[in-house]
Amino acid sequence: MHRHNIAIAGMGLASLATAARLTELGVKGIAVYANGFGGTPYIAAINFVLPDNPYGDSPEKYCSDMLRAGYEIGNRTLVEEMTRRTVDGYELLCRWGVTFAHNEDGSVKLRHVSGHTYPRSLCQTTQLIGEESLKTMLPRLEASGVEIHRNCSVVSLLTDDGKVVGFTVKKGTELSQVYAPVVVAAWGGAGNLLGKSTYPGDICGNTLGMAKMAGAKMVDMEFLEFEPLVILSPPGVEGEPSPTAMLGEGGYLRNIEGERFLLKVRPQGEAGASKSLINQEAWKQVQAGKGAPHGGVYLDLRHVNRKILQSYPWFFNRLMNNGYDPNQQQLEVGPMAHSFSGGICVDCNYASNVQGLYAVGEACGGLHGACRCAGNAASQAVLSGMLCAEGIAKTAQSNLKIVEYPVAYRCDESVRACVLPKLQTIGAKSLGIYRNGLDLKAGLLAVQKIINEQNVARDTFTEQCAQAIVMILAAALNREESRGTHNRVDYPETNPAYEKEFVV
Ligand SMILES: Cc1cc2nc3c(=O)[nH]c(=O)nc-3n(C[C@H](O)[C@H](O)[C@H](O)COP(=O)(O)OP(=O)(O)OC[C@H]3O[C@@H](n4cnc5c(N)ncnc54)[C@H](O)[C@@H]3O)c2cc1C
Repeated sequence: MHRHNIAIAGMGLASLATAARLTELGVKGIAVYANGFGGTPYIAAINFVLPDNPYGDSPEKYCSDMLRAGYEIGNRTLVEEMTRRTVDGYELLCRWGVTFAHNEDGSVKLRHVSGHTYPRSLCQTTQLIGEESLKTMLPRLEASGVEIHRNCSVVSLLTDDGKVVGFTVKKGTELSQVYAPVVVAAWGGAGNLLGKSTYPGDICGNTLGMAKMAGAKMVDMEFLEFEPLVILSPPGVEGEPSPTAMLGEGGYLRNIEGERFLLKVRPQGEAGASKSLINQEAWKQVQAGKGAPHGGVYLDLRHVNRKILQSYPWFFNRLMNNGYDPNQQQLEVGPMAHSFSGGICVDCNYASNVQGLYAVGEACGGLHGACRCAGNAASQAVLSGMLCAEGIAKTAQSNLKIVEYPVAYRCDESVRACVLPKLQTIGAKSLGIYRNGLDLKAGLLAVQKIINEQNVARDTFTEQCAQAIVMILAAALNREESRGTHNRVDYPETNPAYEKEFVV
């Protein structure tokens, strides 16, 4: 049994920012429990608007870009506060040792990524900025007294009378109870819950169901984000997301006829185009028979200066190591599930409706609306962590009188092996980038039937995944219009092509 003042589930950027700010504010008794690093090591771009930027950029412009890209669905109050405090997020990282690439004149290097009017994305040119943040912040946090518990999965939240009192942790085969009056969910997004994605394996998406089962209100659950420039071919590099900054560096998107198709709807060029717009226009090309052989379109970097390409070493080297020279050949790219904009509904302090339960980073929803600007998952992770810590420090936390609770986690490998793949197949079929009401309805019924008939409750993890998929299906069914990353392409009920059963 462990007892802390603040227990954080997850060890990605949102968790580190929360722990760092809490430490600065003098809060003691912080512990982090996690089973990996989530999406954080892969972060290439992180956005901050710095006062001396050369473009006349401002927090207000950043705020309006975020709301506009999200189809005005994002929570305005949260977005305003996040963008107003943008410099504070940057300074927090700097104080904890994170460094950013600079230009020859000493100014901070800014890249132009998807969805933004101006270049405002900070980076490193020798390694991924996410990797840099982990390497610098984690040892400093440990040295400051933050307990880091590695290889631990949080398997359920402990609640009592509408309050969170801790969580159950699994390390290897051992289960233990962790008690804390404040629990911060920093466990990332949907992961591979709905089939193939760019997420690493430690993000399972069951945490969405875990939060719901603890009584948390969830928001924007239909908004699974699809990264538009994931490489579909050649072999060896499939699944690698090409940075959307490549379009900011002058890359073109072309159809099989060589046409720069985005210019028809965006005459100013590909740089800064939102991810949803790229996905929608690329899909039109594929539908019109102008797509590339593997079902995507081409990213043409042949004319981009080699030194610029080399300043994205993880991307350039992976291509070159697989015999692919981006200055010689075009890349075939297409959409793949990549991040999640739904999650736990929070207030300005990143507190949920469950007393004591907070959510930061990708675990919380409501900021990005229907489409997330590139680089904003990382900035939101930092800003939400920082604001959450300030909220926690402001609110006096009463000492938790420890009442011991029995472990309520159930594990049935046979249920997991037999039922989970069925649920995931349904999720993947119904919740792709193009969705229709009939598939969503059929998917929802099929998942509910499985929950009712197949003893899903015998395995807590499977039950959490099932609950998560139900929430996403229901939200997607409910949103009948297309919005950003959620595209509804409904067909008349009589269309025989859609009179099909789900075979699972
Ligand atoms: C390939 C790739 C590239 C990306 N590039 C960018 C980019 O350039 N810019 C950008 O803004 N965003 C990018 N993203 C998205 C970004 O990585 C995430 O949105 C961001 O890392 C979210 O931070 P987080 O701390 O909320 O979650 P994560 O970084 O995902 O961390 C989640 C943490 O929770 C832990 N965890 C999960 N489940 C449990 C559990 N049950 N118990 C205990 N611990 C748990 C994980 O191990 C991890 O420590 C990228 C994502 C991927 C997959």
